[in-house]
Amino acid sequence: MSYSAEIFDAADKELENRRMRSETELEKRRKILFARSPRAEEIERIIARTSVAAARAIFGGEDRRERLEALKRQNLALQDELKRIIKGYGFPENYLDLWHKCEKCRDYGYVNGKMCICMKRLLRQISYDRLNSISPLSLSSFDNFSLDYYDTKPLEDSRNSPYKQMSRVLSFCVKYARGFSTSSESLLFQGAPGLGKTHLSLAIARDVIESGFGVIYVSAPSIMNKLNKEAFEYDRRSNDSPTEQLLTECDLLIIDDLGTEFSSRFNVAAIYNIINTRMIVSKPTIISTNLTITELQENYNMRIISRIIGNLRRLEFIGTDIRQQKHTLKKNKPEEASSAQS
Ligand SMILES: [Zn+2]
Repeated sequence: MSYSAEIFDAADKELENRRMRSETELEKRRKILFARSPRAEEIERIIARTSVAAARAIFGGEDRRERLEALKRQNLALQDELKRIIKGYGFPENYLDLWHKCEKCRDYGYVNGKMCICMKRLLRQISYDRLNSISPLSLSSFDNFSLDYYDTKPLEDSRNSPYKQMSRVLSFCVKYARGFSTSSESLLFQGAPGLGKTHLSLAIARDVIESGFGVIYVSAPSIMNKLNKEAFEYDRRSNDSPTEQLLTECDLLIIDDLGTEFSSRFNVAAIYNIINTRMIVSKPTIISTNLTITELQENYNMRIISRIIGNLRRLEFIGTDIRQQKHTLKKNKPEEASSAQS
C-alpha cells in the first residue's frame, strides 16, 4: 500500500505529539515524586553534577582513573538510593524514564532506517480515519442498545415477536464482535429504517477497533460519490483507486444503507467488485440495507444479489421504528426520551 505525502505528514505529526506527551507525563511524575521526597530531587541534582564532574575528570591529571572510579561508585550508590525511594512509594521501577507508546522505535517511527510496525499501523489507521464516515466519538455500544423498544407480542405474519428476534440478533452481534477475527463470516443486516441496524453495526465497529483491527465504516451513498470522483483519474492509469484499495484490504468493511445510493451501472459494478474481491480473500464485510430481497434485485442485478445473499449471514431486524417511538416519548415524557437509543 502506498500512502500520500499528506498521510505521512499526519503520521509524523502524531509521532511528534506522542513524544511530547511522554515528556509532559514524565515531568508530571517527577513533580509528584519530588513533592513527596525532596531527597529524590536532591539526588537527581547530584547525579547531574557528578556527570559534569566525570566529564571534567577525563581531561584531568594523573589521578584521573581514581577520581573517575570514585565518581562512578558515588553515582551507583545514588542511583540505588533513588530506586529505593521510588519503590518505597509503590511506583514502578522505570518511574523516572520516558514512557514511549512504542518502545521499539521510541516513537520515532523508524528503527535502523527501517519503518517500525507502529508507523505502518499508524499510516493505515490515518487512511481509514480519512475514509470513515464515523468519528470514534460517534460509536455506539452494546450497553446502550435497549430491547425495551421491541414488542413482546408476535407479529401478525410470524411466530416471532420483535423482542425475541432482536434479543437473538443482539446476542449474535455481541458474540460476533467479541470473537472477531479476519476470517469471521460476513453479515447482512436487513430491515425497515429505525430498527437499530446502524446502532448495532457501530457497536460491532467499536469493539472490533478496540481489539486492534482496521475497520472502515462507510455509508453506501458517500463512498459511491468518492469512488465516482476517483474513477476517471485512476482509470487512465489502469490502477485501482486508493479508496478501492483501502476498502478491499481493511480487516472489516461495514457498508451502511446499501440501496440508498444512486443506482448506476458504475455503482453496481463498484459495489460488486469490492464485495467480490473481499469474498475471494475471505475478508468479512457487514452490509446493512432497508431494502427487501426483491427490492435489492430490482436495484442491482441477479448476479450481485445472489452473490451477496449466498455468502452473507442474514440477520433480520423487525419491530416498530424506534425514532418514531422516541418522538412520541419525547412529547409525553421528555426526561425518558433523552436517555433513549438512536
Ligand atoms: Zn515503533
